[in-house]
Amino acid sequence: MTFRATILTLYPEMFPGHLAVSLAGKALERGQWSLDTVQIRDFAQDRHRTVDDTPAGGGAGMVLKPDILAKAIDKVSEGDNRPRLLMSPRGKPLTQEKVRELAAGDGVVIVCGRFEGVDQRVIDARNLEEVSIGDYVLSGGEPAALTLLDAVVRILPGVMGNALSGTHESFENGLLEHPQYTRPQVFEGLEIPAVLTSGNHAAIEKWRLEEARKLTAERRPDLLPNKAK
Ligand code: SAM
Repeated sequence: MTFRATILTLYPEMFPGHLAVSLAGKALERGQWSLDTVQIRDFAQDRHRTVDDTPAGGGAGMVLKPDILAKAIDKVSEGDNRPRLLMSPRGKPLTQEKVRELAAGDGVVIVCGRFEGVDQRVIDARNLEEVSIGDYVLSGGEPAALTLLDAVVRILPGVMGNALSGTHESFENGLLEHPQYTRPQVFEGLEIPAVLTSGNHAAIEKWRLEEARKLTAERRPDLLPNKAK
């Protein structure tokens, strides 16, 4: 079944963005996944096509109105039970595990926030799962949605073919990936580690695992099991 992504946004022109090129773009052309955008503003009811209003309780910025967004969500969710995500810095951090879970499903509906965010009532009433791509604040959910889709699409069956070796990739086994090297044998006086050109596959595996563990302990000790906190 084709993985279907539907994006609710005020800036549909930001899609497919970088997903139109390279392997994701070819897969999109081949119909291995599909992408639809929905302009939230099309669901506005006044002649100014208003989608936002001032925050209740005061404060800076504007908030996306719940009634408009609910209509847009209902329209795209008719007869479908794809997960509904809201890109949000308050969400659960996106992980490779979550990416795998999404890639195994039929697709996803993604709401892209703007301004100060989205009225809480539509998040609750439409069961939106908030997902963050990191501890920083973007100006809108679109780059976050593109990032999430990039990670999902590359692991869809047949998208990367042999290019996806998978097994050693960062996060696949709870470790960051070991360092990689390629020709030339000597670069600015620096040699490829001898073990990698030894032809001894067991030794290469052992070296890669040790390097992956070292790197993970150094940079991301939080990923290691039995982490001392
Ligand atoms: N006032 C919000 C807060 O402090 O949590 C930030 C709103 S941000 C300026 C506008 C929109 O960008 C958000 O509604 C969300 O859709 C998106 N966004 C910003 N940072 C994000 C992140 N780290 N991950 C996912 N989406 C993000």
